[in-house]
Amino acid sequence: MDSNELRRSFRDFFVERGHTAVPSASLIPFDRTLLFTVAGMVPFKRYFLGEEPAPYARATSIQKCMRAGGKHNDLDQIGQTLRHLTFFEMLGNFSFGDYFKEQAIPYAWELVTSVLGLEADRLWVTVHTSDDEAAEIWRDSVGVSPDRIQRLEEDNWWQMGDTGPCGPCSEIYYDKGASYGADGGPAFGSDERFLEIWNLVFMQYDQQDTGDLVPLPKPCIDTGAGLERIVPILQGRPSVFETDLVYPILQEAESLTGRRYGVDHRDDVGLRIVADHSRAMTFLLADGVVPTNEGRGYVLRRIIRRLILRSQLLGAHQHVVERLVSGVIATMGEAYPELPERQDRIMELATREEDRFEQTLSIGAPVLDAAIASGAVDGEVAFRLHDTFGVPIELTTEIALDRGVEVDLEGFQRAMAEQRMRSRQAGFGDDGSEEQATGALWVLETFGKTEFLGYDTQEATGE
Ligand code: ATP
Ligand code: MG
Ligand code: MG
Ligand code: MG
Repeated sequence: MDSNELRRSFRDFFVERGHTAVPSASLIPFDRTLLFTVAGMVPFKRYFLGEEPAPYARATSIQKCMRAGGKHNDLDQIGQTLRHLTFFEMLGNFSFGDYFKEQAIPYAWELVTSVLGLEADRLWVTVHTSDDEAAEIWRDSVGVSPDRIQRLEEDNWWQMGDTGPCGPCSEIYYDKGASYGADGGPAFGSDERFLEIWNLVFMQYDQQDTGDLVPLPKPCIDTGAGLERIVPILQGRPSVFETDLVYPILQEAESLTGRRYGVDHRDDVGLRIVADHSRAMTFLLADGVVPTNEGRGYVLRRIIRRLILRSQLLGAHQHVVERLVSGVIATMGEAYPELPERQDRIMELATREEDRFEQTLSIGAPVLDAAIASGAVDGEVAFRLHDTFGVPIELTTEIALDRGVEVDLEGFQRAMAEQRMRSRQAGFGDDGSEEQATGALWVLETFGKTEFLGYDTQEATGE
């Protein structure tokens, strides 16, 4: 089964069971509490909350998702795991006050075992520690053996963001086998071995910013399954990077950099980042995000610049963006006609950002290299790179830490604050520096002050 067949089978399964097929919404949500559409439920938020009557009691969708900011941010996982992408497609079925757990659980099981043909003895499920009801349905209605049902606390509680719809959830995992890591099921075993494929959320509350949980008018169902995670299982591939959805783009990265996938771990991380970010860049541009210094535009800028820098570190000498964008459009254009339709604009914005970055990078790269060679990147230098040379602080940190060199992030923030003060005194607006300060905060949160634990090898990048 290829990805097109999987999309079709999923949709047909739920349409046959009375669900309305709803097209994917944009990656830019109407909802103002979110930077990006992080899940299939986001476009339906108002129906869950009862703020607007749902035009259908049941729906199914294949939603474009982006997890690169806010509560759901996988940016720092990309490349490090075999299962995370920033841009991915979420298959989902939804009930707006219609059926609840008793129906959602058997539907999911039937689809996974009968339609997709996954072997039941490879499957595990989890429920929330408090959710006896879901555990009973799995055991009694579906017939899952009790030793394959585990209970988790945080992992089985889902919420859209800091506020909004939330509730306990139940998840389906696929055991990829002993070669992927420790046994013990999803609760105790390895995350790469026990691959989370589908989350069934029992939406029951509206999380308030005061911390209170207000019950929804009616309990609802919101499920999300990762298309890119299921396809490798069906195609017998080890990761999300090696299927018809992503591999052609990774191959483009191989050809641009001269590196082969599967030879060297560090190269693999880089190639995965380039492949992932190519998809994210193309889809974000298609949905109207433009590289800027603030908000989602800044996330896009970081993604494009990280992709370019990573390509260069892997050995690319020429421009990369045009071929990567073309690769994504060739691979994904049939399923997402907006890509070929908007190809000219996507290409123009992407290559313009690449040109702009390269102009500044030609001056910035030696500055960064010199700082790294000196054994520490001080705050002033990091700030100058960020502010003058257009090397986002996240990139400076990533590259420096990759070579075992620290960045003085507190000094960076001080320099940033001084700059804001100066521009305020001079009568200029902030021009996104608040977002840039948030970027520094993101780095602090992600990497900590002194330690970087992301990569398993720590020698020079070889460039
Ligand atoms: P994980 O624990 O693996 O990070 P999650 O618990 O954050 O996943 P959910 O919020 O439950 O994910 O999203 C529902 C489903 O969407 C997941 O079960 C998975 O199949 C898919 N999914 C989530 N994040 C990603 C991602 N970064 N890349 C690809 N698929 C994803
Ligand atoms: Mg996650
Ligand atoms: Mg999870
Ligand atoms: Mg989950």
